[in-house]
Amino acid sequence: MSTYTKKQVADLVKGDLDWDTVHLMLSMPKDNDRYKLYMEVLNENVDYDDKVILALGPRLNVVERKADQEIVVMCDCGHDFGDYRKNWKLNALIYVRDSEEKMEQIYPAIMAPDTNWQVYREYYCPSCGIQHDVEAPTPWYPVMHDIQPDLKTFFEWLEMPAPAKI
Ligand SMILES: [Zn+2]
Repeated sequence: MSTYTKKQVADLVKGDLDWDTVHLMLSMPKDNDRYKLYMEVLNENVDYDDKVILALGPRLNVVERKADQEIVVMCDCGHDFGDYRKNWKLNALIYVRDSEEKMEQIYPAIMAPDTNWQVYREYYCPSCGIQHDVEAPTPWYPVMHDIQPDLKTFFEWLEMPAPAKI
């Protein structure tokens, strides 16, 4: 039996859940049904029919593609970033703030980081233009691969059947 309603999980995803309930969710052990409710809510919020199996971030999910059961990273708009084991950022549009002029678009003058030491790399969906991530590395640092989920172990832990192609 679920501890929370689907509406509460949907409000959590939207950022509309009241703080008392958020605090309760954070404080209590996770119930077994919350993953299913969470995935149902995410699936209702996307523009595609493929199955969301894990959230990577707001509007970015690991998805089982309906056509061929391949596991890919997908934007809520349906843009396919490719195999979930590879870094989706390498298939994103990347804007690098690597000059004083570019930093001053977001910081007041003299408040920005020195771009000889730190740059901002912004990652955008090539289809809908939403910003999915921002990194603040030193200029020479490689593109960060934030997470490579172990889906086999994850589904074992959930005690649920895993997608066919993991
Ligand atoms: Zn998109």
